Amino acid sequence: MNPLPYAHLARGAEHELSLDGTPLSRIARDFGTPTYVYARSAIAQAYSDLTRAFGDRPHQICYAVKANSNLAILALLARLGAGFDIVSGGELQRVLAAGGAPHKIVFSGVGKRRDEIAAALEAGIGCLNVESAAELSRVSEIAREMDRIAPISLRVNPDVDAKTHPYISTGLKDNKFGIPIAHAPALYRQAARDPHLSVVGIDCHIGSQLTDVTPFSDAAARVLALLDQLVLEGIEIKHLDLGGGLGIRYTDETPPDAADWVRAVVDIVDAHPIARHLPIYLEPGRFLVGPAGVLLTRVEYLKPHPDDGKSFAIVDAAMNDLMRPALYSSVMAIEPVTPHATLPPATWEIVGPVCETGDFLGHARNLALAPGDLLAVLGAGAYGFSMASNYNTRGRPAEVLIDAGEARLVRARETVESLWANEMIPDTLR
Ligand SMILES: *Cc1c(COP(=O)(O)O)cnc(C)c1O
Repeated sequence: MNPLPYAHLARGAEHELSLDGTPLSRIARDFGTPTYVYARSAIAQAYSDLTRAFGDRPHQICYAVKANSNLAILALLARLGAGFDIVSGGELQRVLAAGGAPHKIVFSGVGKRRDEIAAALEAGIGCLNVESAAELSRVSEIAREMDRIAPISLRVNPDVDAKTHPYISTGLKDNKFGIPIAHAPALYRQAARDPHLSVVGIDCHIGSQLTDVTPFSDAAARVLALLDQLVLEGIEIKHLDLGGGLGIRYTDETPPDAADWVRAVVDIVDAHPIARHLPIYLEPGRFLVGPAGVLLTRVEYLKPHPDDGKSFAIVDAAMNDLMRPALYSSVMAIEPVTPHATLPPATWEIVGPVCETGDFLGHARNLALAPGDLLAVLGAGAYGFSMASNYNTRGRPAEVLIDAGEARLVRARETVESLWANEMIPDTLR
């Protein structure tokens, strides 16, 4: 069997798979399948690896909420001292409901609505990461109406290639994100003159699942070049936000560790006479929660091909529960929870029940499988549940947090009634 990629996963008696000491078969028995299971300890460890790497250098970790926005996860990160990177008014409400500190929130996203900007200002958030000239005007207008001063950064697009999947690459000039870095000084000038705006930082985020520090440090260098221009113009910057995107291992990637990521930017920033005094913000999502989670699923049917075609293992989790394989062609490790001692392995397509050929969790996996077996999709703590949908009228999975050896339900499995709770049949059809 392959070595397990994360320390909080282990095999015990009869090679049974456990997450932070709790057998996953017990979770399936108590909570059913499909279920997302997260290890609190793994999230805390990843957070402390990052903060320790900064040492006493001023910094702020703003967890990217979209990676996993369960209230329990947000409450855990808030307790650890994290700030939050949000991309919607809904995420703002979640963070506040979970006890996150408003002044540690940064608000990213290309399409902030008026009501979302107003709610953010009302809550007293730390910074709006503004992504266009039009948004800058809108923020100013709303701040004026509210008689407030809006703290802003410009999210600049440094035009560096994150060398990741095109759908999660955000820092190239052809991506919709950010302001072309060459246009930033003029907008900063405009913001600095505006009595309803307060320039607080420079922001960038170049993409997700980076597995090399080079694009990250290249982006930092371009941000520093912009800082030099702003300093010359007398525009004061109070923090540098270098975004998220820190990659993790799914199968055979070899991403940098926390210390490598932090060193890559600190080395560059601290070589700059002004930047070295500024706090560095990072916006990691996947890095903090991805490795901590598994999606637990059960084999419903085996459909071996009678000739030499593909053989299918149909499991009870589908693309609606875990979209990464279908959306990004992501390859995620799939491990048997209670391996067979004698059954010979075969090559299986691991697919869900949804009526789409794109509905797969894994291709060509060499596994010994029988109906009823439990499987764990690893590295499912980020962009798993948060991207889940109700396609095919499937209630989304339960979510369980393993916390000091106790399995705690942090989101109940959705009932079918709840899926149509907002629907109505007009009188004319009754
Ligand atoms: C998605 C996102 C992040 C987090 O990306 P990860 O790859 O999960 O670290 C950070 N900042 C912004 C602006 C994002 O959109």
